[in-house]
Amino acid sequence: MTAETQQPVASSWTTGTVREVERIGDNFVRLRLEVADRTDHVPGQHYVLRLRAPDGYTAQRSYSIASDPDDPLVELLVECLPRGEVSSFLHEVAEVGDEFELRGPIGRWFVWGGTTPSLCVAGGSGVVPFVSMMRYARRTGTEPLLRVVASAQHRDKLPYADELESYGAFIALTRENQPLPDGSERVAAHIYPEEIVPLADGIERAYVCGSVGFVSFVGRILGEAGVRSDAVRVEQFGPTG
Ligand SMILES: Cc1cc2nc3c(=O)[nH]c(=O)nc-3n(C[C@H](O)[C@H](O)[C@H](O)COP(=O)(O)OP(=O)(O)OC[C@H]3O[C@@H](n4cnc5c(N)ncnc54)[C@H](O)[C@@H]3O)c2cc1C
Repeated sequence: MTAETQQPVASSWTTGTVREVERIGDNFVRLRLEVADRTDHVPGQHYVLRLRAPDGYTAQRSYSIASDPDDPLVELLVECLPRGEVSSFLHEVAEVGDEFELRGPIGRWFVWGGTTPSLCVAGGSGVVPFVSMMRYARRTGTEPLLRVVASAQHRDKLPYADELESYGAFIALTRENQPLPDGSERVAAHIYPEEIVPLADGIERAYVCGSVGFVSFVGRILGEAGVRSDAVRVEQFGPTG
């Protein structure tokens, strides 16, 4: 049995206590939580986080897990959306010692158990589940099975950019030119099919995560690169996600 077929079922509500908070510019907050009665996750899974006001009002949202299953803390990375109810609260108010209601790990489809040759394609904060996959791949020596492509407007809008680079991920910036190893420059642009073709060679599965527009765009270029649609697994973070 592989880690994918042994996926834990979604647990009931538990408590996550914030042990570390890092605010990354105006855009992101990284939370590391100690989760009571924690069930190990499979990379790609997420938690539902519920905020509860003193008057009993609640608001809940899904957040992918960035940490390796072996990490004693669960790491979440939240993009702060303008007027976003939960993301703004986490970005502006959350502090060490806070307790949030959590349910998870959740997800049986968008998971990678370390055995299937795969390509991950992320837009912006859609990179979070792939960070868990990369960390798991590094720990288990399965990096050759997992290729990662990440896209963002600017480098400072791409969470975990340093870690992605050190993993060897292909990064495509859409509004910033990038120096390439051969001394030339990648002109700011969306990922184009010619960039995906060599990365898709030999894969059996593709994971795509990002906004609604991003996943639809990437679905198209994966098709052009010869990836079968039934090999593509999608997670949408956008308003209709
Ligand atoms: C399985 C899953 C995993 C997710 N993982 C992550 C994660 O790891 N990190 C993360 O930051 N988010 C993640 N999300 C998105 C997250 O659940 C919330 O939707 C997001 O934080 C916005 O919630 P909010 O309460 O701040 O905004 P809301 O108050 O719900 O919305 C505020 C405004 O922003 C719009 N909006 C809502 N969501 C988005 C969006 N994602 N992009 C652009 N506009 C939006 C709404 O239409 C509205 O106009 C995930 C979603 C899913 C379904």
